[in-house]
Amino acid sequence: MSKQNVTVIGLGRMGAALAAAFLDAGHPTTVFNRTPDKAEPLVARGARPAATVAEAVAASELVVVCVLDYAAVRSLLAPVADTLRGRVLVNLTSGSPEQARAEAEWAAGHGIGYLDGGIMTTPPGIGDSANMILYAGGAGLLDTHRPALAVLGDPVDLGADAGLASLYDAGLLGLMWSVFGGWLHATALTEADGVPARDFTAIAVRSLRTMGWFMTTYAEQIDAGEYPGDDATLDVHVASIAHLLHAGEARGVDGRLPELHLALMREAVAAGHGGDSYARMIEAFRK
Ligand code: NAP
Repeated sequence: MSKQNVTVIGLGRMGAALAAAFLDAGHPTTVFNRTPDKAEPLVARGARPAATVAEAVAASELVVVCVLDYAAVRSLLAPVADTLRGRVLVNLTSGSPEQARAEAEWAAGHGIGYLDGGIMTTPPGIGDSANMILYAGGAGLLDTHRPALAVLGDPVDLGADAGLASLYDAGLLGLMWSVFGGWLHATALTEADGVPARDFTAIAVRSLRTMGWFMTTYAEQIDAGEYPGDDATLDVHVASIAHLLHAGEARGVDGRLPELHLALMREAVAAGHGGDSYARMIEAFRK
């Protein structure tokens, strides 16, 4: 079966990985980059170089763009809007939900199919179906182009609102930094007693699976607006975090991260919610 033609615009670290994955999967791949030299390794692997953005867009029904930011996307694509008409633009550039919605509106105004994507890995992870690529917008477009897009990573459909891939992406970055912060704090703590980071991390990664289970349970409580403390109460969490702070102080480990959690939990307890589950802490983040 012949593979769909694809175009990749933007051949930085991520764009080059995307183009390489299409080539590896046998898709005829046209590439364009502002600085043309970056196309050379891909051309050596069989990509077709386009001399202009217009030529790149005209080569394929499916056009993937991955550049620094949305301003760069618009500056590249606005002059070729007529050529894009009737094609599908997949924007894998990172940005805000508001920018994604504006881009979807711009595309709709020019008769361009639009999917906004969020890449949940770094370039070496492209082409591995264990990694997700989140897509939003363009009703039905992901289903039509799933066979081609699946070569980049597991395509996850977030629905018709084009802003959602960027919104999830932003939220998941926050989750990543919180997890990394907690893990590094704990690693500093255990390392002080001679535990190699490797040994502690093996246990930490297992515990993340258990936390995923808690999160799934708490998500139901958040959606229901009820936080029954039938597994562990905020009062218990406040007592537990004191052990962490104490262990950190005894080892000269910076305590600012757990102190922030303690401060937020104390506010909830002071408001009379000490008997509730940790899911009650959602209120600390709602304004
Ligand atoms: P990068 O290696 O710095 O490449 C940036 C790309 O954007 C290059 O192709 C560059 O072209 C192009 N570009 C920048 N400004 C431009 C402009 N004004 N006009 C035309 N082209 C312009 O960055 P990257 O790591 O590939 O990241 C690209 C996008 O993927 C970003 O939105 C990033 O947030 C997202 N992303 C990256 C990762 C990652 O791990 N790297 C993960 C998820 C998402 P030149 O070569 O001509 O400079």
